[in-house]
Amino acid sequence: MCPVIEPKRELADLHAHLTSSISPAVYWHLAHSGGHKLPKSDYHDFADYITLTDSHKLTLKEYLDQIYHPILNKLSSGSIAVEKAIYESLTGAYRTNNITLLELRTNPMKHNHDGMVDLDHIILSMLRGMEQALLEYPTLWAGIIFCLDRQYSIKTNEIIIEKAIKYHRRGIIGIDFANYDTGNFHFKDYIELIAKARSAGLKVTAHSGETDNTNDLWDCLSYATPDRIGHGIKAAYDPKLMQELVKQRVVLEICPLSNIMTKAVKDWSEIKHILQTLWENGVKFCINTDWPEIIKDAHLAKQIDFIAKNNILTQPQLDQTIKWGFQASFVNQHKESNLYL
Ligand SMILES: [Zn+2]
Repeated sequence: MCPVIEPKRELADLHAHLTSSISPAVYWHLAHSGGHKLPKSDYHDFADYITLTDSHKLTLKEYLDQIYHPILNKLSSGSIAVEKAIYESLTGAYRTNNITLLELRTNPMKHNHDGMVDLDHIILSMLRGMEQALLEYPTLWAGIIFCLDRQYSIKTNEIIIEKAIKYHRRGIIGIDFANYDTGNFHFKDYIELIAKARSAGLKVTAHSGETDNTNDLWDCLSYATPDRIGHGIKAAYDPKLMQELVKQRVVLEICPLSNIMTKAVKDWSEIKHILQTLWENGVKFCINTDWPEIIKDAHLAKQIDFIAKNNILTQPQLDQTIKWGFQASFVNQHKESNLYL
């Protein structure tokens, strides 16, 4: 008999980008509220245009350059848009997937109209959106991770780290290294800044080992000493790297369907191979969405159900990874309430 996921099971999503957690319907509303010109004039055509499916796959770079940055980030920019975007993403995930622990990640500088809007206003709007969601749904726990950009200068990324430290008490829980490198990024340049972030109470994660070779993962482990790694799937092909992940107790944030849609892996059979290899080597990991609203069928409950039904992981393995997700969260679940007071 196939293992079946309980319908009301509580889930944690530790790797979801704000920009790709906003549903097409909310984007449509934001676009029309702001009077933005869109590539498509019909809603369904627009939803199809921004949604990745089996017949509409793009590489990570193609999607980021053609849709994510120029369209989606723009539509979710500005104080009003970003507050609604955060609120809708958090509450929607809770209602539709019973995600009771959600870490949304975002780069606030991607939502301030290229510097036209004050960064503190953008961040406070994000926090307002989260606070409203947490107040309305007292069993939903959440926090925001600030993404640095590998294409930014160290000085610009430093500003984001400073803002993360400034608003840590209000719900900014960690920093992440995101976007693809264009040749100038080195983890070793960030040793001091990472130490500063950590001493202020922030946790550290980094996108690594998704599409690139394992050198970046080694650098990440050596210089960033992260608590978690986003993706890290390439480690499954390097036994020494897996040993190091276990030694450093790093948890991998696995995002299966995102890796398939951006062609980082071939298909679900490769995902199964990767997950079973990580499991056999003692590497802890959890299942996440990355891009829940712009990939067809990427909602967490649906992916977990698919993994169970297709025996990608056994039910006991799946149960364990869900536990690891809650344990590896950057959100302090021992606070008096879900609010940041
Ligand atoms: Zn990601």
